[in-house]
Amino acid sequence: MSNKNSFNFPEAELVKSTEIFRTCKNIVVGKGNPEAKILFVGEAPGRNEDEQGLPFVGAAGKNLDSLLASVGLSLEDVYIANILKCRPPENRDPLPEEIRAHTPWLLKQIREMKPKVVCSLGNYATKFFLARGDIEKMQKMPGITSVHGRVQIIELGDLSFRLIPLFHPAAIIYNREKLKPLWEADMEVVKKEIGRENNVGKVRQEVQKRLF
Ligand code: URA
Repeated sequence: MSNKNSFNFPEAELVKSTEIFRTCKNIVVGKGNPEAKILFVGEAPGRNEDEQGLPFVGAAGKNLDSLLASVGLSLEDVYIANILKCRPPENRDPLPEEIRAHTPWLLKQIREMKPKVVCSLGNYATKFFLARGDIEKMQKMPGITSVHGRVQIIELGDLSFRLIPLFHPAAIIYNREKLKPLWEADMEVVKKEIGRENNVGKVRQEVQKRLF
């Protein structure tokens, strides 16, 4: 059964106004733990994701599962969503008007989830966040090769969060020898960032215990 009629709020209506909503089988909202500290953002659902209504379930998803396992994480530790909620026909690149109409829902997810770190997977998601959601500016943004693993503070509308760009799991399939070690090193940066927050919280708790 399709989930296409299951969502009734303004950000979902925007998605429904695009042509790819008419051609897709399911809206792909996300998967994983919505209370996780890490949010991964990919590009768009492919054929398998469209069939199942879940992100990253095809070849790129299997690779993402094994990459997560290689750094000691699982779906319990992350939430995964995409820039687009619907599959573009033949997996073509997202159009500017699709990014404009689909990302308010993604930003609503970030607002509700309040992740400690957002990890953009690959060029599309990275350029969207680096351009602070300004679609006209996306093309001019640096590519993933020059920014991966670097922490960026992103202020986008009412949101403020830390972004750590990562190589896309699909790209790692084709260049495993070179990119897998880089992905693992970048994930150490991610873990350090979420640990740093924890430590600040812990130190504060300790100080409070001593004071009261
Ligand atoms: N690639 C993506 O960017 N997202 C998916 O959900 C699947 C493959």
